[in-house]
Amino acid sequence: MAVKKNTRVNHPPEVRLPPDSRPLVAPIYQSVKFSFDDSVETERFLHGEREGFFYSRISNPTLRQLELLLAELQGREDCLLTGSGVAAVSATLLALCRAGDHVVAFAESYGPTRYLIRNLLARFGVAHTLLSIDDLDGLERVLAETPTRLVAFESPTNPVTKIADIARITECAHRAGALAVLDNTFAGFHNHGRYPVDVFLHSLTKYASGHGDVMGGAIIASRELIASMRKDVTTIGPTLDPHAAFLIQRGMRTYFLRYERQCANALRVAEFLAAHPRVRRVHHPGLPTHPGHRLAREQMSDFGTVVSFDLDGGVEQGDRFADALEYFSISASLGSTESLVMPPRLLGGFEVAGALREATLITPGTVRLSIGIEEEADLTQDLSRALERAFAS
Ligand SMILES: *Cc1c(COP(=O)(O)O)cnc(C)c1O
Repeated sequence: MAVKKNTRVNHPPEVRLPPDSRPLVAPIYQSVKFSFDDSVETERFLHGEREGFFYSRISNPTLRQLELLLAELQGREDCLLTGSGVAAVSATLLALCRAGDHVVAFAESYGPTRYLIRNLLARFGVAHTLLSIDDLDGLERVLAETPTRLVAFESPTNPVTKIADIARITECAHRAGALAVLDNTFAGFHNHGRYPVDVFLHSLTKYASGHGDVMGGAIIASRELIASMRKDVTTIGPTLDPHAAFLIQRGMRTYFLRYERQCANALRVAEFLAAHPRVRRVHHPGLPTHPGHRLAREQMSDFGTVVSFDLDGGVEQGDRFADALEYFSISASLGSTESLVMPPRLLGGFEVAGALREATLITPGTVRLSIGIEEEADLTQDLSRALERAFAS
């Protein structure tokens, strides 16, 4: 007897691809559940005795392809994807720390990461020390005095592109038995893999997706470390949706082309700004005048796509400058194909005070630019015009 139609719509006809007929682009496995032929095989899978997929919060083929790709690019064995970059940060911190632990973080780190360590982890009894990323003697001292679970850092930093000494930080951390956790979002998957970083974190919202239309995050580490975190991370539940993973996978096809072009544009913009009379100081590691230039040359194959600078003047000139720009939208984030600007008004609101606040190098005139793939001459012309307008009487 033919099955009733209201049953059929819930058991649609199956299409099986012959093994020699393959899609060039992997399909989106937009399925929460996967099924084996019988319950014995299902149980074998659940006990880790066979390969397969069962439930998409734990694993999904579309996500798996992206995980393997990103792990390989970053030079590690395994990866866990998350629904945003901060989800990768928070899940990592929660999976690695327990009450009574101590972690080291830096004043120059991404704001939400500072929040997670200073507020959320503190509520769960995890202590922290906040240092400047320039203060590596301080880091050695703290690690010598206080048993530490992990050191969480970034390079280049946001927004003034300080370059962290990765060899020294990882060495200090390991000597003290701490893990080195590097949020490598700014530098990208192709950088820093040769340093003995234990966990790489990435916001896939930036260069991986590349087009400003999808969010994601990644935790990349050795097979062993990822295995030790997997249960906690999947149970915290920051799952990436398969459709988002598909879009990020597609974005990765042009990752190198975009990143190279953005870096080339950024260097030109930095050079243009450095020569401008209304600009006091330019922060871009590609400039020989940048304090981290030599270290950046050693550590990275390029200098990144963010250029910050101190405008002659303050918030008011910053507003006028940003408002006058035609090809730089006023917006947060970075790493997509279009150029963006964050004026001084939006870079303030910093919760750290005193010497650590000074170490961030953010002044009342600091502007951050995220450089896209537009024609370089259009960008410098736009900047030139907007600088003129910012100071027109
Ligand atoms: C953007 C960013 C994040 C957070 O990523 P989301 O995808 O926005 O959650 C984390 N770290 C750094 C360095 C970032 O730039």
